[in-house]
Amino acid sequence: MPGPTRSSSSQRAGPRDGAPEAAAQLAELRALYATVDRALEGWGCEASTDCCRFGVTGREPYPTAIEIAELERAVRARGGLPKRRSLPVVASRRGQRERRGDARGDDAERRCALLGDDGRCLVYASRPFGCRTFFCERARGPVGELADSGLPRAAIADVAREIAALSARFAPADPGPRPLSRASGAWQAQRSRG
Ligand code: SF4
Repeated sequence: MPGPTRSSSSQRAGPRDGAPEAAAQLAELRALYATVDRALEGWGCEASTDCCRFGVTGREPYPTAIEIAELERAVRARGGLPKRRSLPVVASRRGQRERRGDARGDDAERRCALLGDDGRCLVYASRPFGCRTFFCERARGPVGELADSGLPRAAIADVAREIAALSARFAPADPGPRPLSRASGAWQAQRSRG
């Protein structure tokens, strides 16, 4: 799940996303998301939410600063994050762990801060580029294509480059992409205080 940066509300290196220029850049980002969504029209998966549990896949998105700003905007727009209840472990994954004698708790799943208790992304329309691109062996294209052979990788790479360039304009001093789990730490802290 590759993807371009982040900034937390306390560490953001770019402009305030309430400023007119930043708002226009966030709109530009959403247009780029629409472009990649169109390129991937017809692609889908079983919506297991495994890719939203970073400990399950061993991977996570690395959003850019501007993508984090868009996530922060979306979290604010929905009034923050709800209190979290436990989410059942996917049965097949639990079985795998039990078979190999893995005694880790559910915390080891490293569930994304933005995954709701209903198994849906709380900010789906604003989810980062890396959450849109189906780099998963279980994804299927419109006529059953596999991700490793059928994904429109050139179109995806073009959008990734455009997002990286846009983020560099949005937050010139930002040090670069960071794991989504690190970026979302501030939201989780707010939730636990709420
Ligand atoms: S941002 Fe949404 S889609 Fe992406 S990992 Fe988190 S919950 Fe899943």
